[in-house]
Parts: sequence; C-alpha cells; structure tokens
Amino acid sequence: MSAKLLLIASLASAASFGAQQKASNTPIVVRASKLFDPTSGRLLDSPVVLISGNHIEAVGSRDLATPANARMIDLGSATLLPGLIDVHTHLTFDAGGGGYESLGISTPRAALTGAKNARLTLLAGFTTVRNVGAEGYADVALRDAIDAGDVIGPRMQVSGPPLGITGGHCDSNLLPPQFHYSAEGAADGVEAVMHKVREVVKYGADVIKFCASGGVYPRLEQYSPAEMQALITEAHRLGRKVATHAHSTVAIKDAVRAGVDSIEHGIFLDDEGIQLMKEHNTFLVPTSYPLFWFEEHAPQMHLPPWITEKAAIIIPAAKQNMTKAFHSGVRIALGTDAGVYPHGENGGEFWSMVTLGLTSAQALQAGTINAAELMGWSDRVGSIAKGKLADIVAVKGDPLSDVRMLQHVQFVMKDGVVYKDEITNQGNSLHSW
Ligand SMILES: [Zn+2]
Repeated sequence: MSAKLLLIASLASAASFGAQQKASNTPIVVRASKLFDPTSGRLLDSPVVLISGNHIEAVGSRDLATPANARMIDLGSATLLPGLIDVHTHLTFDAGGGGYESLGISTPRAALTGAKNARLTLLAGFTTVRNVGAEGYADVALRDAIDAGDVIGPRMQVSGPPLGITGGHCDSNLLPPQFHYSAEGAADGVEAVMHKVREVVKYGADVIKFCASGGVYPRLEQYSPAEMQALITEAHRLGRKVATHAHSTVAIKDAVRAGVDSIEHGIFLDDEGIQLMKEHNTFLVPTSYPLFWFEEHAPQMHLPPWITEKAAIIIPAAKQNMTKAFHSGVRIALGTDAGVYPHGENGGEFWSMVTLGLTSAQALQAGTINAAELMGWSDRVGSIAKGKLADIVAVKGDPLSDVRMLQHVQFVMKDGVVYKDEITNQGNSLHSW
C-alpha cells in the first residue's frame, strides 16, 4: 500500500468513528467528466451538481450558476452516478456464520456485526439498502443508529424477522423439540400471518419479508396461496411493501398472484412465471453474484459433498433462468444477498447481471432508479436530480463500457457528506468536520 493510500485509509477509518455526520452549511459543487442518467440510460457530458445541505439543489452543465462561497469538488475525468442501491442485504450477519455456531450469536452481537458491515457497504458505494431478515430486530437498531449518526452506513429499510411457516426456510434450526424454539417470524394460518405482519410493523419493520418456498433446494412450497394473500394484503394495508424469498416455480406464481412486490432469487422461475410477473408489474431481484462467487470459492470451502452436488444442479439452472428473465423485459431491481458472501463486494452484482444478459445501462438502472422505485423512494434516491438526497458516487472512467468499475467505487457522498474520496485525494475533503 502506498503512503497516499495509507493516509486515505487512516482518514477513512478515523471518519467512521467520528461524531454525527452532518451535511455542511456551505454549498458544495461537484464536477466531473460524465454523469450517468438512469432515466435515459445515457451518460451526460460535463456535469455540475450543486448540493445544499443534504439534498441536490441543481444539476446542470458548465454554465450552471453556482454560489461563490461553494466548496468545489472537481472529480476530473470521473463519471458520477447516483448513490447505488441494494434491495437485498443481510448486514447483521457474516458469510460462513450459519450452522451450529450461529446459535451462539446474540442479538446485540448481530447488531455490532451490522455496524461493521454497514460501513463496508457504504464505502463500496451503496448509499441505500434494504435489509431483508434479521432476528431480534438487530436491523431496526442498526437503521436507527445510522439515522442518528452514531454509526456510519447506508440509509436502510429493514424487515425485522422474516415471516415463514413452522419448520420452513425461515424457521430452520438444528434444535430438537425439548428446546421449544421457533424463529420469531414463524406464523401459520391466515390469522397468524396477519398478526405477525402487525407485530413486525409494531417493532419497526419498513418492509415485510417472507419465505414463500424452501431454501435453494428442495423446491418445497411453504405458505399456501390463502396465507400469502392475507399476509400481503395486510402488509399493503399498513403501507408496507412485501419481498418474498421464492425459488420454487409454484411458490413464485402464487406469490405474484397474491400481489407480492418483489420475487427475491427466483431460481426456478419459468416462462409462465415471467409472464405473470410482467402482468403484475412485479420486480425480480435476481441475486446473481452469489452464484458466481460460490462457483469460484466452493473448492476452498471444504463443503460436504451433498452441497456441492446440489450446487452443480442449481447454479446452471439459475443462470439459464435469469438470462431468460433478463431478455424477457421483466423489471429488475439489484439485490446482492451480501452476507451469503463477504459484505462490500456488492458491486459484483452489476458484472454478474451483465454476464447473464442485461446491458450495462440496464444493470445500472436496476441498482439505481428501479431499486428506488421498488423501495417506494423514487422521490428521494435513485437519480442525481434536483430535490433528491445528495447521494453521489463516482468511478474513474466510463462504467457503461465496463461495469466492473462499480466494484471499485472511488468517491462516495451520502446526504451531502463525503465518506470516501480516492479521486482528488484531498484528505480534508473526506469529511466536513
Ligand atoms: Zn437473502
């Protein structure tokens, strides 16, 4: 590591332990060579963005009038993008933390793991995330700590414990009956799922997550159509969107017919499922990067043979189905399943989606404007536009020619505060305090 990089690294880590991160009163002007406009899918030339407090005051080109006292951040040949959005994260746990050992992790420990991963995620360029599934409401605590400025991280929507049938994917553990343990989100029957939706909303859920089908395999259906209907209707009545973990072909269709807002993973999505999703305007959150990550890392993971055998069937099928979905025009929002692999590698999802058939512009739209729409936050995030929150990231070069650049985001601003700047290398521009 060069001395300069060391300096930046130490400044960045000092920043993460600082006091409240408040947007400065001094207006900021950010200039660069290009700006990715997710509405058109195109790059605009010579952008100038005026930031006031935590929001974007104006966006224009070189002739944009800017206040004389503004602080200038000139990012030279870089391309500006809206702060990236990941709608499927698991910040409160780490890769490899499953199995028996997970039984020893307390809720406070999970929240602290979340604080570490929130910082990694923000510095990777993801200024907004949706966290889908956390026991003990560790995600609610994390969201609130970030909002209060106690912890550095992305703006979050959280689900609390995911709902699922007794013994299903969201209630799987190794404990025998004498422990009398059920996951917090376990609920069976129409009345019980309605009650559980109200309960997680009471304790702070912004979004409802449920498991419509089993883990990756077998493709077991779990909630009945009547239960899904009740769960989703109640969530919508309380103003919450619903995301469902669904791999099974049947469960995907049942959930779409019941009005779910997004199908997460969707590995065994078929043609009829794609058609239904298009009719219902349902988003697919493909979480495709873990497929590639697993293939690359499985040999060093010393996994039992049944897992590698299962993966050999699932991964090719998943890739094929995702490619079909991408070409079908079904709406895509970017979600990474980070936590299944190490946090901070979220940007790899752009590359994997392009590898499976999206154009670079479509992948960038999935991780900006589409993700914002799925979260119901189109009015505040997803594009660099007047009135939106000042969430801006930058990469050196043209991300449309190579989306792998998104794996090395070099500038991160959230709410008008700069958290990372490896472009101007101005140490004092890292933070406003
Ligand atoms: Zn997940």
